[in-house]
Amino acid sequence: MGDEKIRVAVLGGGVGAMTAAFALTATPEGRAKYDVTVYQMGWRLGGKGASGRCAADAARIEEHGLHVWSGFYDNAIAQMKSCLAELQDAGADGTFRSFEEAFIPHGNIALGDMNDGWSFWPMEVARNPAEPGSGGTLLTPWDYLVELVNFLRGAFGGDAPVLVGALPEADMTAEPSGGLSPELIAHVAHRTGLTAGAAGISAVDGIYRLMNRLPETPPGFVQADHDALSALSRRAQQDIRQSRLSGGAPDAGTRQFLVALELAATVLRGMIEDRVYRHGFDAIDGEEISQWLARHGARPDVVNSPLVRAVYDYAFGYRHGLTDPSHRAIAAGVFIKGSMRLFFTYKGAIFFKMRAGMGDTIFTPYYKALNARGVKFRFFHKVRALQLADDGRAVGRIVVDRQATVKSGAYDPFVRVPYRSDDGAPALDLDCWPSEPFYDQLVEGAELRRRGVNLESAWTDWTPVETLTLRRGVDFDEVILGISLGGLPDVAQELIAADPAWKRMVDKVETAATQAMQLWLRPGTRALGWEHGDSILTAYADEMNTWADMTHLDAAEAWGAEDRPGSIAYFCGPLPDPVRFPPYSDAGFPARATAQVMEYAREWMAEHGARIWPDAFDGKGGFDDAALISRQPPGPAGMWETQYFRANYEPTERYVLSVPWSTSARLRADRSGFGNLWLAGDWTYTGINAGCVEAAAMSGLRAAAGLAGLPVDIVGEEADPVPGEPCDYSRSEKPMAPVLQSIRAQNSPWPWSSLYGMAQTTGATVTLPFPRDHVAAMLPAGLEPAPQTLTGPAEHPVILLFARQRNVRPNQLPFGWNYCEFICAVPWARHTDPRLQDLPPLIVPTRLYLDSLPPILLGIWGYGFPKLRATICADLTSYVVRDAKTDREIVSCSFEREGAEVLAHQITPFEAVRPAYEMAMVTRNRIGQWQYSVYDFSLGQALLQPLKMEIRISSDALGLPEGQITAPPISASPFGGAFLTSDATINNPLQSFELRDMLRKRHR
Ligand SMILES: Cc1cc2nc3c(=O)[nH]c(=O)nc-3n(C[C@H](O)[C@H](O)[C@H](O)COP(=O)(O)OP(=O)(O)OC[C@H]3O[C@@H](n4cnc5c(N)ncnc54)[C@H](O)[C@@H]3O)c2cc1C
Repeated sequence: MGDEKIRVAVLGGGVGAMTAAFALTATPEGRAKYDVTVYQMGWRLGGKGASGRCAADAARIEEHGLHVWSGFYDNAIAQMKSCLAELQDAGADGTFRSFEEAFIPHGNIALGDMNDGWSFWPMEVARNPAEPGSGGTLLTPWDYLVELVNFLRGAFGGDAPVLVGALPEADMTAEPSGGLSPELIAHVAHRTGLTAGAAGISAVDGIYRLMNRLPETPPGFVQADHDALSALSRRAQQDIRQSRLSGGAPDAGTRQFLVALELAATVLRGMIEDRVYRHGFDAIDGEEISQWLARHGARPDVVNSPLVRAVYDYAFGYRHGLTDPSHRAIAAGVFIKGSMRLFFTYKGAIFFKMRAGMGDTIFTPYYKALNARGVKFRFFHKVRALQLADDGRAVGRIVVDRQATVKSGAYDPFVRVPYRSDDGAPALDLDCWPSEPFYDQLVEGAELRRRGVNLESAWTDWTPVETLTLRRGVDFDEVILGISLGGLPDVAQELIAADPAWKRMVDKVETAATQAMQLWLRPGTRALGWEHGDSILTAYADEMNTWADMTHLDAAEAWGAEDRPGSIAYFCGPLPDPVRFPPYSDAGFPARATAQVMEYAREWMAEHGARIWPDAFDGKGGFDDAALISRQPPGPAGMWETQYFRANYEPTERYVLSVPWSTSARLRADRSGFGNLWLAGDWTYTGINAGCVEAAAMSGLRAAAGLAGLPVDIVGEEADPVPGEPCDYSRSEKPMAPVLQSIRAQNSPWPWSSLYGMAQTTGATVTLPFPRDHVAAMLPAGLEPAPQTLTGPAEHPVILLFARQRNVRPNQLPFGWNYCEFICAVPWARHTDPRLQDLPPLIVPTRLYLDSLPPILLGIWGYGFPKLRATICADLTSYVVRDAKTDREIVSCSFEREGAEVLAHQITPFEAVRPAYEMAMVTRNRIGQWQYSVYDFSLGQALLQPLKMEIRISSDALGLPEGQITAPPISASPFGGAFLTSDATINNPLQSFELRDMLRKRHR
């Protein structure tokens, strides 16, 4: 039987990899089918979540950094519960026995508020009766809007007496910006039954009432609904801002609360204005959240408010670990969705603290359960490289360095530490991971110890004992890659070179280093001077901006009555990257980095510590080292050196960021692009797209499901819309993307599909490079410039076509319309939604001006083209487009023919831009769906005549910089002018999805 099993190599042992292995072997069938081996560098599982026990210091817990779980971690908690239950059923010991035993609900949060010096905003986030890890309904963006409005209404109507009645009962016609036009007032009145003027209620109430009377799903909204919601949300934001000013200077608590409400109102406004409720959160991931908030009217003290900074701190959201505002880098959609999930979807408690180290609490149970299921663990196996099979389509070999030799049998990884119950008596024994390998179990142990080798470090001069090459079909069949993103440029070079999607991922999804400090102190937290209980304080002074009181861990460590700490404190924050990292041969770098963190932490404590722990400082303002506890002898610089400090510079330990434009660059766990490779880690596309345990768990589940080819319910994973498949509302997840309601119509069978459009298209055309930022801004939300080689990375091409259309008609009719049509289009575009990125590059018509109404209407309603009416004057050498209403010139060109009219392929420079003219088009149609069409110029037969062109862009209506451009003839440059004469066809608009599927298949 063993030989028939599918051999699965799991590389790495973090949350992602362990969840994948656990899911893959969850059933007897899975265990019978898969032979799973985990390859883990060093001596322990856990990765960024690994912890160790310090043998020299009362088995104190030493973490990579502070870890708490959130109550919304449905998948991670469900897996953990099932793992602990399985161990209990099997009578295993050495772990906590249940989730409730292993985790402590936590709602005590404090936020640092910098306003004429630091003050603190303590809050107790309420518990709720929901069962953590029980799954359930995932809110849609629209549901989140409803939650926001309820939150705002609650704040102004219910438990916040200072605010009751603080919002004006608005006459919504009032200026400024919040004013609704008479048409919109009439629309709101029609929808809600409110009398005209909508006076007597606040704007927040107005939104609430309107929301309740709108069609059930956003695709049913009409433009006036959107406009009314936008205007009302602007007004609500303004009213909340003004309510702040009305009652004189508010006290600190009220001020903080009002800033929070203003933030909520800004998010409400932004989500409405950017139609996030329709297009989903990913659609705004090209924008940084601080900029997004500012664009939607947030004042600087809202953008820099403790609540916003808390999320930056939680997600280490700063490029290169630099905490100044210019390095803030969290994509708007990830930020908002993550915050909403945190505040609106937690179960039981907003956070859970672990009762022991993360290694002991999470990875010991995983190790034990997997071991019992027959999963093999190969510690001291460091993956050096993934190599592709000869066909380039799968992983063919895995090169692994064996770092050390286990003396006999399997490596036994645990040290047993008693866990004391509240009265001090041992309640159970925990099997814990040590901070260092058990050297006595290793042949090379003495030397490793003598040289102080860190087997988890890339900066090492340790020579591996052996280098193994695992071969596909011999040692493994399938691979689950659980090594984190920061390590991939080292181990996955071949994959990155072979697949642009991999290259894009490692380029776009950035990582940052982190630092941590743990202190064991004699006085209790209250005696140190902190008044707010066992808080998690965040948004405090950078860079150690987060502190959690972890005193409860004392029960899991082996202190005696004489040296038991009164307080255990974990600090954490971003760690700025050095200007240049030394080469990996510099084995002393990690120790130097740790020493630097220790020094820096001391300075930080001297500067900022007294504000949180005033009583830990002596009369001269110095931190009292005597407060520190350790069983290690003090170093030359005193007791400070006996505490625990950590510089997480190691590539695979770097925190995975969610910078703008990175969401769409993430690969899905089950779509690695290589046949036998599955991805497990918080760096994949999951629906969270941020570095956290839940994202890693979701990714592990998806990787296992992909490998096994089995369906799996992953809470929070966004629905993958499958054309033609009805939307199943009975599933726990509601669809996040626009519902594909008209899918049947779009897939209409013959005879409709035999109907298509025809025209003769002639006119001057040119492809020009423009600044990429301008071009990106021209694209509708949900589309972005795709990589291309025609221009450098700072630019992107745009096509202008000054056309005359003749005999435009459905193919069945003998005659049609003649008109002028100017087209501005962006080729090499793609969807930001990774689920739609398996399409070839697309062209997006961003503006079309026509001088005839029927084709405008057909274009808008049939194809979703952004067509507008214009006055166009065209003759044999010039073409002028003017706004139909104002008569102001928008764009014009004049041209001189240079050379003969020839077949397109006879002009060599044209070949570089030809793919752009042949790309399928994508637009967003009137009901919000992506619509695909192909305007086929039949370039095989088309004629081109080189033109020298003068183009004048006289208005910002196209989104292009205004000015005069001279283009040489196409015969001289791909960015040259040409006169095109072609017979064109355009597909039947009802075939949009069919076309998309065809493009997808062809592209594959
Ligand atoms: C300081 C800090 C604080 C955090 N706080 C929180 C928090 O409070 N809550 C939260 O939810 N998340 C938190 N996170 C994020 C969380 O730790 C990660 O999202 C999660 O651990 C990622 O798991 P992973 O499986 O994707 O990757 P990793 O944990 O990085 O796992 C990678 C695995 O691969 C192994 N490996 C790497 N290279 C090799 C190699 N060459 N050969 C063999 N094995 C290899 C590693 O040892 C490890 O076992 C924090 C992260 C940091 C850094």
